[in-house]
Amino acid sequence: AGSPVQPRPPAPAGARVDWARVRADFPLLRRTVHGKPLVYLDSANTGQKPAPVIEAVDAFYRRHNANVSRAVHALGTEATEAYEAARTALAGLVNVRGDELVLCSGTTFAINLVAYSWALPRLKAGDVILVTRMEHHANIVPWQLVAERTGAVVRPVDPTPDGALDLDTLYRAMTPEVKLLAVTHVSNVLGTVNPVREICREARRRGIATVVDGSQAVPHMTVDVAAIGCDFYAFTGHKMCGPTGTGALWGRREHLQAMPPFLGGGEMIREVSFDGTVFNDPPHRFEAGTPNIAGFAGLRAAVDYLQGVGMDAIHAREAELLAHLTDALDAAGGVRILGRAPEKAAVVSFLVDGAHAHDLATLLDLEGVAVRSGQHCAHPLLQFYGVAATCRASVAFYNTHEEIDAFVAALQKVRRLLA
Ligand code: PLP
Repeated sequence: AGSPVQPRPPAPAGARVDWARVRADFPLLRRTVHGKPLVYLDSANTGQKPAPVIEAVDAFYRRHNANVSRAVHALGTEATEAYEAARTALAGLVNVRGDELVLCSGTTFAINLVAYSWALPRLKAGDVILVTRMEHHANIVPWQLVAERTGAVVRPVDPTPDGALDLDTLYRAMTPEVKLLAVTHVSNVLGTVNPVREICREARRRGIATVVDGSQAVPHMTVDVAAIGCDFYAFTGHKMCGPTGTGALWGRREHLQAMPPFLGGGEMIREVSFDGTVFNDPPHRFEAGTPNIAGFAGLRAAVDYLQGVGMDAIHAREAELLAHLTDALDAAGGVRILGRAPEKAAVVSFLVDGAHAHDLATLLDLEGVAVRSGQHCAHPLLQFYGVAATCRASVAFYNTHEEIDAFVAALQKVRRLLA
């Protein structure tokens, strides 16, 4: 009975991490692909899941399955506890209050919730929504849809040739018509880590609300949303070792309280009558219908797992792997890396002279190496750099230096095939 997930004790501060043991927690990484050991370098797309996460989902369905907040029976209570425990764990991870954290299906839903519930009733013709050109489509298209309905305009700010944001340019673009700034914490194409704390402070001084896309940040570093000082922060569970279809939106309490529901149905109401329905308080007001309860049981286990390894240790490990990967690609010759910002996460988009990205990715797959190719849900960014497609190798703490060497050796082999 009680909580279905047994949390791991957090790692003692300063303890050395046994990375081989950590890797062994990920069963999928033991498989082969096309007869070759899998080298999974697509964690920016979705992360792999450690055994405790898989077991938490399994345990929920085997022992605790029921709906949340509806039944008074024991299973109903256990399911509700599992779901709410995920909220508490996620809130602790990013340093916010649980009652300001809306659980949802991921970043795409989270940003659409802000767009339709916060921005749509507030924006008017002539207002500007400022975005950076390095946003994922999930942080562009919802704003375009809202702009179409309000007469507001979406204005992009270009990055530098290195893939960083020039802050003077960004601040100059924060004109009085700008009501909202949507900015990614970490770019899923360039790896750039944007100084969101500084950016949000400048926006706030000018009365501009801020939405930060934390999809690529929360899995890889200690994120303190309270310190960032944004108005909304969105992130997604499946990139942080959790199940697909899970994620969260943090919003300032005053915004959440003022926002009308986005979707109507069960769970989000206090009382329904044909004379007028009374909505629940946030965050439940925004959680209509039966949520992905098993997924959140898994996501809670993912948070425990990440904290058990230690976010600072994960960050340091990935920085080391990124340096190795970058050096190895530079040494290979004829490889152009897109995005060399000084502050960078372990995402490397690259082009190879004389080879198309899709051909490279297809041949690399035959060598057991999984990289993504294409435009990475960032068409405006690739257009800006005049590039049709890139390959992207993205690394997580469970990868190894040997895998990076195997990847670069495979790349050299497939280049020879394409020459
Ligand atoms: N934002 C960024 C920066 C991403 O990398 C992604 C995922 O690729 C998303 C948003 C969308 O996340 P989801 O598909 O989980 O909603």
